[in-house]
Amino acid sequence: MIEIKNISKTYQMGKVEVKALTGVSLKISSGEFVAIMGASGSGKSTLMHILGLLDRADSGAYYLGGKDITQLGDEDQARLRNRIIGFVFQQFHLLPRMSALENAELPLIYAGKRHLVAKAKEELIKVGLADRISHRPNELSGGQQQRVAIARSLVNDPLIIFADEPTGNLDSKSKVEIINILQKLNQQGKIVVIVTHEPEVAAYCQRVIQMRDGVIISDQRKPEARKIPEVVSIEGNLVSNLLSRPRKISGETKFLDYLRQAAAAMLSNKMRSILSILGILIGVCSVIAMLALGQGAKESIQKQLASLGSNLLVVRPGSLKTHGVSMQTGTVTRFTLADAASMAKLTEVVKSVSPSVTGRGQMVYGSNNWNTQVEGVGADYESIRAAYPAVGRFFTESEVKMREKVVLLGTTVVKELFGEADPIGQTLKINLLNFKVIGILPAKGANTFHDQDDTAVIPVTTAMFRVFGKEYVDTIYVEAKTPDSIDAAQAALSELIIKQRRLNPKEAEESFQIRNMSDIKDTLEATTKTMSMLLGAIAGISLLVGGIGIMNIMLVSVTERTREIGLRKAIGATHKDIMVQFLIEAMLMSFLGGIFGVLLGWAVATLITVFAGWTVRVSLFSVALSTSFSLVIGVTFGLWPAKKAAALDPIEALRYE
Ligand code: ADP
Ligand code: MG
Repeated sequence: MIEIKNISKTYQMGKVEVKALTGVSLKISSGEFVAIMGASGSGKSTLMHILGLLDRADSGAYYLGGKDITQLGDEDQARLRNRIIGFVFQQFHLLPRMSALENAELPLIYAGKRHLVAKAKEELIKVGLADRISHRPNELSGGQQQRVAIARSLVNDPLIIFADEPTGNLDSKSKVEIINILQKLNQQGKIVVIVTHEPEVAAYCQRVIQMRDGVIISDQRKPEARKIPEVVSIEGNLVSNLLSRPRKISGETKFLDYLRQAAAAMLSNKMRSILSILGILIGVCSVIAMLALGQGAKESIQKQLASLGSNLLVVRPGSLKTHGVSMQTGTVTRFTLADAASMAKLTEVVKSVSPSVTGRGQMVYGSNNWNTQVEGVGADYESIRAAYPAVGRFFTESEVKMREKVVLLGTTVVKELFGEADPIGQTLKINLLNFKVIGILPAKGANTFHDQDDTAVIPVTTAMFRVFGKEYVDTIYVEAKTPDSIDAAQAALSELIIKQRRLNPKEAEESFQIRNMSDIKDTLEATTKTMSMLLGAIAGISLLVGGIGIMNIMLVSVTERTREIGLRKAIGATHKDIMVQFLIEAMLMSFLGGIFGVLLGWAVATLITVFAGWTVRVSLFSVALSTSFSLVIGVTFGLWPAKKAAALDPIEALRYE
C-alpha cells in the first residue's frame, strides 16, 4: 500500500545541517499494525510526517497504492490527507472552543460531506464518548481528548491511521484504552502506524521498526503477524479516483460551512470582534450621516432656488471672480435707487425691479429682544421673490415712496418676539425706531447653514434713509419678462450700466455683475458638492481606519490560531479553504459593522433632523455605497492576513507554540 524509496530529509538550523532522515526505504502493506521506535531525535516524527503527506522529502520516491505521488501538488496532498489518512497527535490538537462533536466533524467539512454529521457522532460513540459529545476539550480528560482525536481521524473512513506518540501524554489506564481502540481499528482492516518510544505500546504491534539517527536499523515482524493478502489494486483505484476526480462541493454548502466557522471564531473572542466591528460601524455611520447632511443641504438649496423664480436676474456691484469685492478700489460701480428706476424702464425685456439693501437690526417688542437680518426692498419684491405674505399684506409702492415704517416678519422672528400672540398691527422697535407689523412672510425653511425665516422685510427707502443710513443699494433684483428674454434682459441691463457710467470693457468686467438663476444654481451646487465630498472624504477616512483595525485583528488572529490552521491543513484543508475561511471572517466582521453602521447612521440623521431642524436626507445610494465599501474593506484588509494564514506549512504551524 505504502512504499517509500531512499527518502532523505535535512533541516537547516542556522548554519548547522540536521540530517533527520538519510536514505530511508520502507514498505507497509494493507492491514499492518506498525510501531516506529527509537530514541528522541532519531527521525520518527519526520518519517511519519512524510508518510502522512504533511511534509515533503528532499529526495526519494513515494508510492501510494502503487501510484507515484512523489511530485503531488498541495491540493492533491490535502485531498489524500482528508480522505485516505487519519492523524492522531501526542498533543491531541483539538480546537479549544468547539465541542467534541464539532471537533470530530471538522474533516467532513473539507470532504464536502457535512450532511454526514451523524457519522461524527457514531465515531464518538464507538470510542466510548456517548455522554461527552457536547463537552469542550478543556472539560475532558487527556484520554477522552485523545479519543475525540481518534474519532476525528475516522470520520472520513481513512485507509491509514498515523499516530505520533498517541499515548505520550496519558496515564497508564488511558494508554491501554487508546491502544485497544487502535488495535481494534487495525482488526477492522485499517493500516495503523504508531510512533512511540514505549516498549509496552510497541508490544501490541505486529511489526516494530527501530530507528536511529535518521536510518532504520531493524524491522521485525512478529511470528504471529497475520498474513494479509495485498489488495493494492482496490486501494490503488481509490487513490487514483481521488486524484483524478477532484471533490465537487456545492458552493452554497461550502459557504455556509465557512460562515459557521467564521461565526464560531468571532464568538470565541467576543470583545475583540466587537471592537473591530465598532471601527467599521463608526466609519459607515459617519459616511451615512455625512452624505445625508450633504444631500439635505443640496435639496434645501434647490428648494430655495425654486422659490426664487426662474426669471430672476441679480445685479450687484463688484466682479464675479472676486465674489463681489473688487481688488482695485474705484472700479466698483455702486447702484442707486435711480439705477433701479432706469432699469425698470427697459419694459421690452424687464417685467419688474426691486432694489435691496440688507443689514442687521435689533428688534424689540415688549421685553423681548431679537437680532435679525433686515432687508429693505421695493414693492415688487413680493412678486419677484414670491414673498406673498402668509398673513397680512405686503407694503405698497406709495408706502415705499413715503418711507413708511412698516415691516413684514419671518416666522422665526415672530416666534422669538411674539410667541403665540398675533403680531399683525403690533408696533415693535427696529434699531430704536417704531415699526408697524403688517404681515408675516411665507416660511421658507432652514438648511444646515442658514435660517431663511430669521428675517424682516421693510421698504427699501425706509431701510436706506431711516434705519441704515445708506446711500446705495446692495443688490437689484430684476425679473425678466419671460424665461426666453433672460439673456436679452441681461444684455440690456449690462448695456445700460456701461453706457450710463461710460465704462471701458475692462472696467465693465470688474465693476459689476449680473447673474441669472442658472449661474447661481451652478455655484451653489458646486459649493454643496465640494462640501459633500469633503464630508464624505472625512467619513471615508474613518472607514479606512476601521478597515486597518480589522486587518490588525485578523493578523493577531492568524498568529494566535497558527496551530488551528496547522490542524485544519493536516485534516485536509487546502490553501484555498484556509484563505477563504479567514477572508469570510474579515468580511463578516466588516459586513456586520456595515449593517449596524447604516442603522446608526440613519438614527443619527434622524436625530439631526429632529433636534437641529436641518434638512437631512439618507439616500439609498449612500447606504449601498457604504455597505459595499465596507465589504470591499473587509476583503482588502482581510486578504493579507488570509494569505499569511493559508501559506503556513502544516507541520510548522502544528509545532507553533
Ligand atoms: P523524533 O520524532 O524521533 O524525536 P524528529 O523526527 O522530530 O525526531 O526529529 C529528527 C531530527 O530532526 C531531530 O534532530 C530534530 O532536532 C530535527 N528536526 C525536526 N524538525 C525540525 C525542524 N523543523 N527544524 C530543524 N530541525 C528539525
Ligand atoms: Mg517525535
